[in-house]
Order: sequence, then C-alpha cells, then structure tokens
Amino acid sequence: NYRKGGYHPVEVGDILNDRYRVERKLGWGHFSTVWFCTDLNTEGHVAIKIIRSDPTYSAAARDEIKILEQISQADPEMKERVCHLLDSFSIVGPNGKHICIVTEALGPSLLSLIRLYNHRGIPLPIVRHITKQLLQSLDFLHRKLKIIHTDLKPENILLEWPIVFTHAKTGGGMSQQSSKNKRKNDRRKKKRQGLKTQTDGPTPSDQPLTPISSLPPADSNHVTPSTSQVSEPLPHSALPTDTKIFSGTNPHPSGLEKYNVRLTDFGNACWTYRHFTTNIQTCEYRAPESIIKSKRYNTSCDIWSVACLVFEMLTGDYLFEPKKGKDYSMDEDHLALIIELIGSPPLSFIHSTPACQTLFSVTSSSISVKHIKTNDTWPLSSVLLDKYRFLDGIASETAGFLLKMLKWDTEERLTAEQLLTEDWLKEDGERDELINEKREWEELMGSPTNDEEPRPSDENV
Ligand code: ADP
Ligand code: MG
Repeated sequence: NYRKGGYHPVEVGDILNDRYRVERKLGWGHFSTVWFCTDLNTEGHVAIKIIRSDPTYSAAARDEIKILEQISQADPEMKERVCHLLDSFSIVGPNGKHICIVTEALGPSLLSLIRLYNHRGIPLPIVRHITKQLLQSLDFLHRKLKIIHTDLKPENILLEWPIVFTHAKTGGGMSQQSSKNKRKNDRRKKKRQGLKTQTDGPTPSDQPLTPISSLPPADSNHVTPSTSQVSEPLPHSALPTDTKIFSGTNPHPSGLEKYNVRLTDFGNACWTYRHFTTNIQTCEYRAPESIIKSKRYNTSCDIWSVACLVFEMLTGDYLFEPKKGKDYSMDEDHLALIIELIGSPPLSFIHSTPACQTLFSVTSSSISVKHIKTNDTWPLSSVLLDKYRFLDGIASETAGFLLKMLKWDTEERLTAEQLLTEDWLKEDGERDELINEKREWEELMGSPTNDEEPRPSDENV
C-alpha cells in the first residue's frame, strides 16, 4: 500500500508541515497511518492521521474534517467524548498529496483492551462504564449533530490512557495469530463445540506474554463466585520488565473515573440528511439494513453496532461472524445468523430492497434465507448462560439490554438517549462487588499497549 495513491512513507524524526516531529507510529487503518508527534510550537503531543493520497480517500478526509469541525464547535462538555480536531494540512510525497488530520493523542483502542483480557471478556463494571460513555457520545452525535458514525468497532474507540510504548510485544494478550485463530469459530460451530468455560482458555502455545493472572478475572462475568477459579496475581517480579504496572503515580481505573473512552475515526461518518454511500459499516458490526444495502439507514445502524460491541467486550467473541459458504454468500450467512439469534425479519424488511426479495424464501409459516438451512433459534440469554456461563440474572438482564438494540425494524431499536436510562447501565455496587470479587487489578493491571496490528476487516470505502 506504500505506492502511488497509497500511504505516505514516514520516518521517525520527520518534520511534518514545519511543525510536527514524528516520534512513533500509533496505528493504521484502511484509510491512513497514524503517528504520535511532538508539536514543536507547544512541545505538546498530538496524533497525526496521514490519509492515503488517492482522490477517493482525500474526498472522504475532507468530509471527516468537516465533521470534526462541527464537533469542535458544538457543546464543549460533550465533545469530551469524541476525538478533538486540532489542525489539518496536506503534504506532498512520493505517493502523491496526502491530507493530514491532527487530533489529540489518545491511548490504545478498545481492541487492545479486549486482547489484554485474552478474548475472554472484560469485567462487567468496566463494560458498563465504557458502554455508558459510548452511548453518551452517540446521543450527542445523533441528536445534536445529526451525525451517523457508521463504523463503530473496537478499533475506533480509544482509551484515554497514557500510552505505553514497549519494544517486546507484551500486554496485548495472545499473539496476533493465535487471537485470530481463537476467533475462527462462528456461532454455529461453537454450538457444536459447546461451552466456553475455563477449559476454553488459551492452549499453552497461546499463552500471552503478560501474565493474565494480573488482570481482573476474565471469567468474572460468567462464573459464580463459589466456583470461580481466579488465580492469585503474580508478584511484580514475575512480570516482563517492560510491562508497566499501575501504581499510585500511574493513572489507573480506580473507581473507573479515569477510564474514559473516546469515539474516533469519522472517516466514514455522514449526516442523517446526507448519506455518501450505502456501503457502510464493518462486516461484523453491520446492521441488517446495511447488509442489504438499503438507502434508508439512520442513526439506529450505530445502535446495532453498539450491541455487537457490548457482546464482544463481555465475551471476547464477535456476536456475528459471518462466513461465505459453498452455496451462499457472506451476507446470506450473516442474515441467517441474525435469524438464529433474534428470529425472522418482518415482511417489510424483505420488501425494502428488490435484491433482498431474492435472498429470502417466504412461506405462510416461515421466512428463511434461501440457501441456508438455519439452526433453531438460540436465544441470546441462553447463549450467555449456556455457552459463556454468565450468572443467571446477569445473562437475562444483559440479553434484555442487548435485544433492545437488536431489532430488524430500525424504528424499534432504542435510541442512545433511551438506552442511557436503562437499568443495565446502572452500577449495582453489591452485585459488581460479587462478580468482581478480585479487584487487585486496580493496582496490578498492566496497561494495554498500542497494538499497531489492525484486524483484517472489510473497511468499506
Ligand atoms: P482509519 O480511518 O484509517 O481506520 P483511524 O482514525 O481509525 O484510521 O486510525 C487508525 C488507528 O490509529 C486507530 O485504530 C488507533 O489505533 C490509532 N489512532 C488513531 N487516532 C489516534 C489518536 N488520536 N490517538 C492514538 N491512537 C490513534
Ligand atoms: Mg479506523
């Protein structure tokens, strides 16, 4: 991708726009590479997103800047929940002209946190806290600015944590390859494979470099305290030398007040009144209407993605992981997986695009995807209970909360504003204490590192 129309080649020490010295790479995505830089005017630090030079990407970047400007001019309190625009400029390099977007430098993405927990689930109180903040950002974007993000996923939600730079690959949970392997099972396969319990942990070769025992118990969402097998934290001396430990002087999520998340990457965002494309969202987080490329999507497509995200934070697995089969497309598989989880779509959905009608077979008694024999419905509360071993009450409450977002009919999905009043988001001290009985993580949790490796995704532009 480092060719004409692609990424700009950057060296540490480069000075961009006579002002920003490149210190290191923060990450990259389909559109860009992102760099941690020193602002030579202020000696502060910033993140600079250098967009690919192809005109399609430049056009999207100009819209991204417009959206970031709109956010910057809006309510100063609420814009704390999204990444701030500080500056923008363009540079010319061997691969063409690149738009550069300067924002505040933030910490690692939610994906790094999911990996830090070894894809076995982030503890419920943290998930609640993150979800609440995410919904606050969305409520602000949706109601106040009429902006649809259209690409919510862990990679685009950043933690407001100090960035920890390590040379060895630590703190990112299992290796890239093994984490990919771990995600291979789709739900149908998992159904056959049975439960995800303590025995479903990493194989010896999967062992992460950072001792997972120093984290809040990954199984804390789904094992009863009496049977929980929380391992004792290792002494500090057992940690790799380049693993940072939260200490009194390190910001840590004590009381979670420091544990802010911010929404970022507005490269695919649009307005409710001005869409750019029907090709929106990253596959696993795609709402039904965007799977069938309906023009009539709205802010509720972000809400569908929130449900996928919350499930993933709690379990470490994708909620939907569609695969192409011999006789069916990935989209058909996706629709079949949704039917298995929440039941058949209403006829209005099937009639919403001409192409959609060819995908389904409709009889007087059932609606199904033509080329796929769907399994029986496996309700979400049973998935959480049976496969992930959630506590009984928590499985049903969590499923209840998620199902308010997982509706075929976009009008039926609760809005961010409505979701913010849901009981599921309220902290329940006693219950959280019970579930999260080992809270040593407040002192011992290693910081997630900035994980530069994005997952393979079908980014849409
Ligand atoms: P793309 O549009 O190419 O996906 P993103 O804006 O999502 O670009 O940035 C790519 C990655 O760079 C993110 O997933 C994140 O890891 C990192 N990143 C982006 N912005 C920042 C920032 N402000 N602070 C720290 N890391 C960032
Ligand atoms: Mg991105």
